[in-house]
Amino acid sequence: MRPEILNPLFAETATLDGVGPKLGKPLDKLGLTRVKDVAYHLPERFVTRRPVDNLDAASEGEQIVIALTPTEHRAARSGRGPYRVLAEDAVGNVCALTYFGRASYTAKKQLPVGERRWIAGRLDRYGDMLQIVHPDHVSEEGGDALGRLCEPVYALSEGLTQPKLAGLVTQALARLPALSEWIEPGQLARQDWPAWADALKLAHKDEHAAARERLAYDELLANSLALMLVRADNRRRKGQPLQGDGRLRAKLELPFPLTGAQTRSIGEIEGDLAQETPMLRLLQGDVGAGKTVVALEAMLIAVEAGKQAALLAPTEILARQHFETLRAMARPTGAEVALLTGRDKGRARESILMGLMDGSIDIVVGTHAIFQESVAYRDLALVVIDEQHRFGVAQRLQLAGKGRRTPHTLAMTATPIPRTLTLAQHGEMDVSRLDEMPPGRQAIDTRVVAQERLADVVEAVGRHIAGGQQAYWVCPMVRELESEDIAAAEARYAMLKERFGEAVVLVHGQLRPELKDAAMERFAGGDAKLLVATTVIEVGVDVPAATLMVIEQAERFGLAQLHQLRGRVGRGSEKSTCLLLRGDALSETGRERLALMRETQDGFRLAEEDLRLRGGGELLGTRQSGDTPFRVATLEQIQRLLPLAHDDARLLIERDGGLEGERGAAARILLYLFERDWGVQLLRGG
Ligand code: ADP
Ligand code: MG
Repeated sequence: MRPEILNPLFAETATLDGVGPKLGKPLDKLGLTRVKDVAYHLPERFVTRRPVDNLDAASEGEQIVIALTPTEHRAARSGRGPYRVLAEDAVGNVCALTYFGRASYTAKKQLPVGERRWIAGRLDRYGDMLQIVHPDHVSEEGGDALGRLCEPVYALSEGLTQPKLAGLVTQALARLPALSEWIEPGQLARQDWPAWADALKLAHKDEHAAARERLAYDELLANSLALMLVRADNRRRKGQPLQGDGRLRAKLELPFPLTGAQTRSIGEIEGDLAQETPMLRLLQGDVGAGKTVVALEAMLIAVEAGKQAALLAPTEILARQHFETLRAMARPTGAEVALLTGRDKGRARESILMGLMDGSIDIVVGTHAIFQESVAYRDLALVVIDEQHRFGVAQRLQLAGKGRRTPHTLAMTATPIPRTLTLAQHGEMDVSRLDEMPPGRQAIDTRVVAQERLADVVEAVGRHIAGGQQAYWVCPMVRELESEDIAAAEARYAMLKERFGEAVVLVHGQLRPELKDAAMERFAGGDAKLLVATTVIEVGVDVPAATLMVIEQAERFGLAQLHQLRGRVGRGSEKSTCLLLRGDALSETGRERLALMRETQDGFRLAEEDLRLRGGGELLGTRQSGDTPFRVATLEQIQRLLPLAHDDARLLIERDGGLEGERGAAARILLYLFERDWGVQLLRGG
């Protein structure tokens, strides 16, 4: 149960003044569903504006404060056009103050013709006219004060404005409860960090590095504590020691020798399985590194020991592919492999459930459907989870209840993350790394091409698919508003479709699942030749025929992400090409980063290098979501503060004997605050 003191923070955002049904959706989009989310929605940056005497002294794109006198109001000519107020500066230069939608009502009230006003906002140009769109401030007095103001700039979604969001933040900050300090006092003093509530307030006010750092540290500490509690809990559990005699594995007829890394990983897994303490191991390896065989060998050990194994996949399509592969590979061993997904109904489903209960099925592959209440196993001893990052730890803990004793867990991931992040993300697990690719892989021919050469790229794609081969075209999610990204992808799709007709399909995040599945299937079946996608291409889905990938605005992706996308091609023995289109957001580091993509095909090396290149110079707001399990801590902060947090968490658990005592109690609150409360639950259960 969440401590009552946190209730005001976990109240829904709708309990804040001025949040009606209309704001629900935009707030959801940003993940701001509770008061706490709003309080932790830290500014992406801050603006200060330069006071200027007249427009000649300002440049386009600049944030300014200026005195202007309205001369004329122009209503929208058509229904949807903007409302414009023309205004003059002290020397007679004209600027339009432009308002869209309902904002025009404010304009009418605030900007009477002939009366001078102080205007704050960003100067830009519309055609040959200077304009300020939706000025941030309009006031009769106080130009100096406006010029000194340092204001937060928040990430927005459609339907929200900066002042509206700032108002919500102010309300949320007013609800912060008085929490006891969880950071060790010596540490707090050494770092000169503010107390928690002060830190939150300061972080919204200006670029207060110490405040940001403290908040990041809180998040890292919560994470480290929770992972350590999982680990400690696991050590107390009893699993089943599995001794395979090798009789099934000996019958495998693999068409290739295992790589050294595969053999080593299997050895590590075998060692874990033989213990009574349940295995908690992560198998990391690039796409194509050969994780499936390792998983199969592990599952066969369980079967040799007379038990069952389950493989959990994140999507229906992936479950089906795994099933086909594993069934074919396992055939010579005689192990019975079945597939169970949410789609199976009626008799077919019944017979699989029977097989799991009476033990005639040895290995089951499926989606989360395999762990529903109604599914009973005779003796489940090993659970393999593919693409672990998609399943929360909480879900994994539920699985623990399925076997008579706690099953062993093998998680697999192709997401290349640097070592520091491995600790943050998977610190509760032991790690095996497939750091060696099977031989005979052709390197993917990677090239960086300027966006201006788009027409040439389209022609190259045309030649490629005319030769019967398949290609991906990736449009990034980079803009402030998701709808703009979708629109860009749709526009690109329309253009390519015009050129290539029915051979093109589109997949993006807002597509209905049936349509998305249908498009993926047309592509997987070879019917469609070109798949246009935002970055939602399913990790791991096998489409070996695709041998070309185009990635637009490649400089906006993290290298690890680019690498993973690129891994969708070049999986067979055929030569594959990846074209990285370099767009407008290129800095010096951007250039250096893309060059690395040509140099190496090693995902972990790319992840490390990217961290090094971005780490130091990382600006507020440039982090990519999805990179890490953190909302507050940046990559740079993770690197610097995680080791501290990790040691602190260990001390806290060891010295305080599992979060007893005063600081321990504060730390429990911290776990709830960052929703790592599964850690606390383990503490109780144990
Ligand atoms: P991952 O799941 O790690 O992305 P897979 O298990 O799907 O990779 O393996 C990719 C391909 O490599 C498969 O076709 C598989 O049969 C093949 N493969 C796996 N191990 C080896 C090996 N040691 N030598 C050659 N080919 C291998
Ligand atoms: Mg795989």
